[in-house]
Amino acid sequence: MRITIIYDNEVWKGGLKADWGFSCLVEAYGKEILFDTGGNGSILLGNMEKLNIDPTTIEEIFISHAHWDHMDGISDILRVNPVKVYIPASWAEPSGAREVIRVAKGPLKIHENIFSTGELRDIEQSLVVKTEKGLVVIVGCSHPGVRDILNAASQLGKPYAIIGGLHGFNEFDLLKDLQLVCPTHCTQFKEKIKSLYPKKCVDGGAGQVIQI
Ligand SMILES: [Zn+2]
Ligand SMILES: [Zn+2]
Repeated sequence: MRITIIYDNEVWKGGLKADWGFSCLVEAYGKEILFDTGGNGSILLGNMEKLNIDPTTIEEIFISHAHWDHMDGISDILRVNPVKVYIPASWAEPSGAREVIRVAKGPLKIHENIFSTGELRDIEQSLVVKTEKGLVVIVGCSHPGVRDILNAASQLGKPYAIIGGLHGFNEFDLLKDLQLVCPTHCTQFKEKIKSLYPKKCVDGGAGQVIQI
C-alpha cells in the first residue's frame, strides 16, 4: 500500500504548498481513498496536480472528523468528483456527495482489509488498513487519544504503523510496539517522538510518500 501526503502544515517536497490541515491519498488493495481534505480546496487541488494525483480517479473520501482543517477542502473536490463520503455520525453531512455513510461506533469494514475504527469519543474515526506487516492506522488529529485509537484498531489485528496528527499526544510509551510512526500535522511533540524512536519515525509533510 502507499500513502501520499497531499496537505500538511509543512512541505516535504519542493513546489508544494504548506498549510495548516491534513489530507493524504491512501492506495491499497486497488482502492484510492482520499483521507481528509485539508482546509482549503484550491491548495488541495493544486498540490494534487503537482503530485500527479487525478482527483477524478479518487473513489471515496474518508473524513476523520469535520474540523475545518480536515474538511473544508471537500466542496472543491466533490465539485470535480462527487464520490461517496464516510464521516463520523456526530458531524453534519457534506453536500454534493454521491452518498454519505455516517459512521457510528465501530469497527466498520469498508472494503476487504480496509476498516474504520468507528467514531471514537463522539468526534473522530481513524482508517485502518490490514497489511502483511500489521495494521496501518491513519489518523486526523487523534482527538480521542492515541491510546483509544490503538485499542480500537487492536480489535482488528496488531498495529504496525500510525500516520497523521497526534494532537497533544504525550504517552510516548504507546508507540514502542509500533514499527513505523509518522507524526505530522498538529503533533506537538514531534521532536520528542523522533528523539525517542529515531528508527521508527518517518517525516511527514506535503509530498511525502510512504510505501508499506
Ligand atoms: Zn481536529
Ligand atoms: Zn487537525
